Amino acid sequence: MATLRCPTCGHGFESQFTPAMPFCSERCRQIDLGQWLDEEHTLPVDIEKHLEEQANRPPEDRFDDDEDSL
Ligand SMILES: [Zn+2]
Repeated sequence: MATLRCPTCGHGFESQFTPAMPFCSERCRQIDLGQWLDEEHTLPVDIEKHLEEQANRPPEDRFDDDEDSL
């Protein structure tokens, strides 16, 4: 019988008692999933900011970047 530690709430639990492995409960699994989705939602903002910085640079710099990526 293995005792595991829930990555969401940090409490120890018996692995045989939960269907929400590796979490202690379905609730903790949902919380972890929610954190993951929140991180995803921040991504488009970062990309938009990055593109804005690129657009503000002189055309010569942008041309150099294109060559590097090929
Ligand atoms: Zn938990």
